[in-house]
Amino acid sequence: MITKTRCIPDGKKELKKLPVVMHTDAPYLYYPVTNARCPEGETCVRGGQFVKVGEVIGTRKGAFFEQPMHSTVSGEVVGYEKHVDQSGQLVDCLIIKNDFKYEVLETLTDRTEEEIEALTREELVQIVKDAGLVGLGGSAFPTYIKLATKHPIDVVLANGVECEPNLISDYALMMTKPKRVIDGLIYAMKAAGAKRGVIAIKKKYKEIKERLNFALNEYSGYDIQVVTVGNYYPQGWEILTIKDALGIKIPQKDLLAKHGVLNFNVSTLAGIEKAVRHRLPILERYISLSGDGIENKNFRARIGTLMSDLVELAGGYKDKEIPKVFILGGPMMGTNVTQDDIVMTHTTTSLIVQNQVELIEEPCVHCASCVYSCPVEIQPVQIMNAFKARDKDTIKMLEVDKCIECGLCSFVCPSKIHLTEYMRKAKSFAKK
Ligand code: SF4
Ligand code: SF4
Repeated sequence: MITKTRCIPDGKKELKKLPVVMHTDAPYLYYPVTNARCPEGETCVRGGQFVKVGEVIGTRKGAFFEQPMHSTVSGEVVGYEKHVDQSGQLVDCLIIKNDFKYEVLETLTDRTEEEIEALTREELVQIVKDAGLVGLGGSAFPTYIKLATKHPIDVVLANGVECEPNLISDYALMMTKPKRVIDGLIYAMKAAGAKRGVIAIKKKYKEIKERLNFALNEYSGYDIQVVTVGNYYPQGWEILTIKDALGIKIPQKDLLAKHGVLNFNVSTLAGIEKAVRHRLPILERYISLSGDGIENKNFRARIGTLMSDLVELAGGYKDKEIPKVFILGGPMMGTNVTQDDIVMTHTTTSLIVQNQVELIEEPCVHCASCVYSCPVEIQPVQIMNAFKARDKDTIKMLEVDKCIECGLCSFVCPSKIHLTEYMRKAKSFAKK
């Protein structure tokens, strides 16, 4: 039977009820010198040196940009160790021993309203660049590059849809700090020269809509609206959210800015607010631990914290005799990692710990559910077959590069075929 699936269990209801445990005082903080977008990097501090909160400790280098690394505590540089980063790779990390004084670099004083008002577009872009801000929804794309667009921008979209199951960090942010999101949106609008701002959230989050609209009463001089979009997956994918929230259809490979739109995750906008108002980089973020292999908990933790510390604080693993599967991020698009020795970075939102169960793939029953559910309208089953046959031309003809790795095809497959993994492999095979 052919089924088109768009609604998936989101696993957020129970997580949202849990209190947020503060853990901003880890004794050692770890800072990856490289990451998936920046394969090279170097530090600019020596062993034994004392650093302060917000101090630059190195630079990560990407293909066309550089990203400063900042200390999130004050303390002593004590060396390097390898740990797993957001991409699941083992990378060199600089270690800072926390002195628990949290002394902030003297130059990082708050800007006054007048100083913020007087900032030019170029200055705002430079502030965001200096803060090393990247897309916190998972893209990790440098935020200043988007803001510095030469295209005329009509509207900035604050994307608060957070479609992935088990993720609640954007939800927690909008519920607790709505004005930080709105201020960040206003600064992004000014940096991009946009007159209009739209905050997109899921229709079912009535409480967020109320909270944001209440906060917006204080911003009567701005054209900012809260718009709700459908509760289906993968709503939050920028092309779909822009279509549903703004009514603008953008072809998948087009630059959004060419259509007068910029899209930022709400946590990224809160990061812009922190950089502009407080001259600070991202120091902390919300993160959740979930899954049947662990006591579920929400944390607010400092960037650089080891996830294994959070696991310990959550009471360790349940059913210790059962091997665990770790997923960094959400269950649909997250990265599988083999251990919990993971450093929390700007883009770490969640660790899912599952008791391992044996999933045996069965033969395809040609139900076409994967094809009908695919949001970019490609044919996962045909691509898998072409990949198995190492038929590069067919893989390209079937447009595997359109795949956004949303995980829906794997989710709907009655034969438990991990189609998304085949899409990833087929994509990289087609590029060789
Ligand atoms: S993972 Fe790719 S192929 Fe599968 S449903 Fe999502 S977009 Fe389509
Ligand atoms: S791969 Fe799975 S979902 Fe797709 S047609 Fe075959 S059985 Fe159905």
